[in-house]
Amino acid sequence: MNMTCDMSISSQASSPFKPLIDPSEDASLFISHELRTPLASLQGALGLINTGQFGELSAQGRELLNTAMRSADRLTRLASVIEHQPYTMKSLLSAEEMGILQVENEFTSVFNLEDFYLYYQPIVTVQGRQVIGFEALARWHHPTKGWIAPAVFIPLAEQTGLIHQLGLDLLEKACVALRTWQQTFSELTPLTVSVNLSTVQLRDPQLFEKIRAILEAVGIVPSALKLEITESAFIENDIIAQKTLRQLQQLGIQLYLDDFGTGYSSLARLHDLPLNMLKIDRAFVLTRNWAISEAVINLAAKLGLDVIAEGIETVEEMTILQAMGCQKMQGYLFSKPVDGNVVTSLLHQQSLQRRLQPQAAAVDGGAMALAKP
Ligand code: C2E
Ligand code: CA
Ligand code: CA
Repeated sequence: MNMTCDMSISSQASSPFKPLIDPSEDASLFISHELRTPLASLQGALGLINTGQFGELSAQGRELLNTAMRSADRLTRLASVIEHQPYTMKSLLSAEEMGILQVENEFTSVFNLEDFYLYYQPIVTVQGRQVIGFEALARWHHPTKGWIAPAVFIPLAEQTGLIHQLGLDLLEKACVALRTWQQTFSELTPLTVSVNLSTVQLRDPQLFEKIRAILEAVGIVPSALKLEITESAFIENDIIAQKTLRQLQQLGIQLYLDDFGTGYSSLARLHDLPLNMLKIDRAFVLTRNWAISEAVINLAAKLGLDVIAEGIETVEEMTILQAMGCQKMQGYLFSKPVDGNVVTSLLHQQSLQRRLQPQAAAVDGGAMALAKP
């Protein structure tokens, strides 16, 4: 498997993830197939009823049966039209919508934990360009369509309930990778990893115990794990979720509020939530909404919370936010998400630099330094 492909960009407009369906591929064939398969079984069942095998029908029943058979025939003719006049479908659905539909339909049947991988994006402190941790971001290598972005498959995993299994498996993969890096590079600042937790996962009353068991089995201290949760997890008045979040925090796992400002947090409630960090959403940086960014930074300081600004792409964005007092950042300016092998080489490089410059390392505590952008 080629893990070096550029998987680093999100599923936003500029995504390099390949479209899920090749526009040249005949989308109409897929749709007509999707229509024909259930239609064939419906027609089979109606045909059996028509032969009288299940007993005689009343006059009203026969009328209903005839209507159902005529409807099934009309749909079969529609499937033929779609198959032979591809432009009909193309005008109805875009190639991307077609692809998503296809992936949605087969999600449960093609789902295999081994096809999911993690990429890691460094989180840095601006002063000294030190890496303080990595955010683990999931990618799916679909058996026939190649790499698929989390914006597509996470909602599917949530709808089907497979997120429970997938989320814990990804969390374990992140912890195993982190343990290896911590052991191999013990001379560097204790490394940490942030894992995204779906709101749906928080409905599992056993979630706290399951996470604790993973940490114990892998041999990671709770403080090395950060969980990123969106506002809805805190807002939904779900007693199980609130209890789990408090238990996780009491164990020593830090909780990050992801995409802060995009939801509808009640600011008044922020101070009683078990939180350690606010992540300022990229939307504010992208729209240069500096007034809101500054308000969030000040609010966090008042509440004793730390702040990370996400999606930093330019030196200008970095400088403005730094002047407002934000020290921790994440974005393409510093590094795109990279696969675990690239993280290992990055850490090797940092370790080598530390051995070559022991005095400088002693001063900065041996933290990894990123090249200046
Ligand atoms: P998120 O947690 O807000 O993650 C940040 C997203 O922004 C990532 O997209 C990342 O690649 C992208 N990003 C980082 N820096 C920049 C930048 O400078 N510019 C731009 N344009 N984008 C940047 P990605 O990897 O596509 O993930 C999308 C979302 O999918 C994540 O948003 C998160 O909500 C969800 N997700 C990813 N992995 C997981 C997972 O393991 N579990 C769950 N539940 N959700 C996940
Ligand atoms: Ca996140
Ligand atoms: Ca985010």
